[in-house]
Amino acid sequence: MIEKIYRALFCLEDLREILRETAPEHRLSDEQRERFGSILNEIKMILGDKRSDAKIKYVVDEIELRTREEEFINIAPIQAAGRLTAEARKALIAYGDGYSTCDYCFKPFRIDYIKRPPINEFIDELAEFVGMDAARVVRGARNGFQIVSNALLEKGDIVLVSSLAHYSLCLAIESVGAIWKEVPLSEDNIITGENTGTKIEEVKEETGKLPKLVAISHFDYLLGNEHDVYGIAKICREYEIPFLYNGAYTVGVIPVDGKRIRADFVVGSGHKSMASPAPTGVLATTEEFVDTVFATTKLKGDVTGRKFGIKEHYLLGCTVMGAPLVAMMASFPKVKERVKHWDEEVDKSNFFIAQFLKIKGNRVSSEMPRKHTLTKVDTTESFDRIAKTHKRRGYFLYDELSKRKITGIFPGATKEFKLNTYGLNWYQIKYLGEAFNRIAEEYGVGVED
Ligand SMILES: *Cc1c(COP(=O)(O)O)cnc(C)c1O
Repeated sequence: MIEKIYRALFCLEDLREILRETAPEHRLSDEQRERFGSILNEIKMILGDKRSDAKIKYVVDEIELRTREEEFINIAPIQAAGRLTAEARKALIAYGDGYSTCDYCFKPFRIDYIKRPPINEFIDELAEFVGMDAARVVRGARNGFQIVSNALLEKGDIVLVSSLAHYSLCLAIESVGAIWKEVPLSEDNIITGENTGTKIEEVKEETGKLPKLVAISHFDYLLGNEHDVYGIAKICREYEIPFLYNGAYTVGVIPVDGKRIRADFVVGSGHKSMASPAPTGVLATTEEFVDTVFATTKLKGDVTGRKFGIKEHYLLGCTVMGAPLVAMMASFPKVKERVKHWDEEVDKSNFFIAQFLKIKGNRVSSEMPRKHTLTKVDTTESFDRIAKTHKRRGYFLYDELSKRKITGIFPGATKEFKLNTYGLNWYQIKYLGEAFNRIAEEYGVGVED
């Protein structure tokens, strides 16, 4: 079915291509009209033929069609909440041309001032959405870290990160010559305000200065545990150290109120959690830091005297443009709505985990009960035992899941792996739980009723 839909879609693009070949006065030539007609017929044939077996595998050359969201239940940890809405996919088709968002860009020539499509309103709404004063769309959460690092840090400055911090945050800090140090986890694998305070004191003692920034994710990417961002922000306030709230796994799925948290920066990821294409993300801040991170250009050319208006230099002027930006905007109404239903996502996550834990030997490495849809599970005492004697070794689990049209776990992993149930409906959740149970039963692992 999906291949048929792709075939028809591609034909429609070929029709569009013909329009792009015409000159306004000439309309379609005979040859073009003929080609148009034959493509139209092909579409009718594709859609009309119930048995249609003419399959296609490639977009072009070696670029395969991507069909896993249509053909599988995808529980890939990083992909679940970045799946596009239908609206976003339509926007991609319509705004795919390079600098498409520049059609109606007038003075002062900045992407966040464009009114058609209403990018300006979107940027304002984004700030409100995360409870901050000002926001910009950036090229992924990592670009948000990079912008803040550039604006705030000098060589040798110290930044506190979580012991579960994402590599991209550490690299952003390193890239400006600053140093990251880790706040240790509590016994429950949580970053607390207390541990953050202790680490601040340690750094002060060792180096004689305070960290320049504390950057901690609300939910980490390794366990999907919730960290005490309120407590951390409070400690940061006391020491007057700016706090960056990393919402890569929250902004776009959970309501986030940066001001209530008392964060100085909120960073989110469009392609991870806002149903947006890559590379997209959000960087938001308060009045206090607007002029620092969104600083405008001051220099002028020594030969020409040229200046670049109000371009923001840490952002390199315009950030995300064209199709990714418009698709992010197109998804936004649904994203705003879906954060209100986070509780149900957590319910489904816990429902699945309860099913999963019926399998003898299965454990959960993340905190319990689950507060997120991203979970790390431990199957050392169940599936890994089977892997030891299976001819496909660890791949057997991946194979068995694939057979049941489930994808997204790391091929070969049978000890510990992550999965994300975000966005699956109840029917799919139950199917997923049953699939794991059936696999366990087939290999003689006990399953509770
Ligand atoms: C995924 C992730 C990032 C990186 O996000 P991008 O938008 O791809 O740059 C950063 N931090 C955490 C905690 C993440 O999970």
